[in-house]
Parts: sequence; C-alpha cells; structure tokens
Amino acid sequence: MALRTIRLLGDPVLGKVCREVKEMTPKTKILIEDMLDTMYDACGVGLAAPQVGVLRRIVTIDIGDGPIVMINPRILSSDGEQTDGEGCLSLPGKAGKVTRPNHVIARAFDEDMQEYEIEATELLARAICHEIDHLEGHMYTELVEGDIYDVEGGEEE
Ligand code: ZN
Repeated sequence: MALRTIRLLGDPVLGKVCREVKEMTPKTKILIEDMLDTMYDACGVGLAAPQVGVLRRIVTIDIGDGPIVMINPRILSSDGEQTDGEGCLSLPGKAGKVTRPNHVIARAFDEDMQEYEIEATELLARAICHEIDHLEGHMYTELVEGDIYDVEGGEEE
C-alpha cells in the first residue's frame, strides 16, 4: 500500500488537461493501485490522477459498491438533472451545491485496457462527471450554486 499526496485547490496541476493512456505499463498499474489506496485512506468516493499530480486520463471511483477504474473515460450520453452537495478531496472539509446529470452512459478502459460501457445514476453519475471534469482541468467549485460551506466527514471526490 502506497499513499500519494493529494494536491489541493490552487495547485497548478489541477488546472491542466490530462493526456490519454495509450498502453498499460507496470508504472501505470502501480499508479492505479496507489490511487485506490489514497482514495480509500482519505475516505473519498472518487479520485482523478491529476489529484495525485499525474496528468493522465485515469479515474478511480467507489461509491460503496466496489472499486471502478476508468481509463480514458468519456461520456456517451447524459440526461436528467440532480442537485446536491458535492465535495472534493482537493478541497477537504468543504462542499457546495452542484447540478449534474442524473443519468450517464460512459465508456472507458479497465486496468487490462479492455473497453467497457457503464450506465450510472445518482451518486455514481455525479462522481463520473466530477472525475472526468478533473481530467479536463476543472474543479466542481466552478459549478457551485451559492456558497461553498464547511462539512464534516462528507463524501468527497
Ligand atoms: Zn474532485
């Protein structure tokens, strides 16, 4: 188990666009394992590679149903709307109200570079949108409606 340092809002790496993963390498496999360890250690529901300082299109998510690894993820379609509090491991202890699609269909590669499709609603749909935004250099704070408020032990992405 290896933990990586989570970059915080204001770190320039969080504002950069990530590059695609072309092939799985031992180094990338270790990165994914470290991302999962780091996400669980921080009690987050999602983590994107730039949050640990790596500009690659890799995301890990676990909303309580087991780990999901998304490499080069893209959203194929989205519909509906949900508005709820959203947090981020790069802005610990804070949350804000964000509107996201309530239903998304996404495509990604797993850690064996096998392509798969995932259909998600509610929190999982929110997490997928949140993490893909990180890969484009965006933080949820750009989408917050109203104020960013303090939370204790909330779900963070
Ligand atoms: Zn985040």
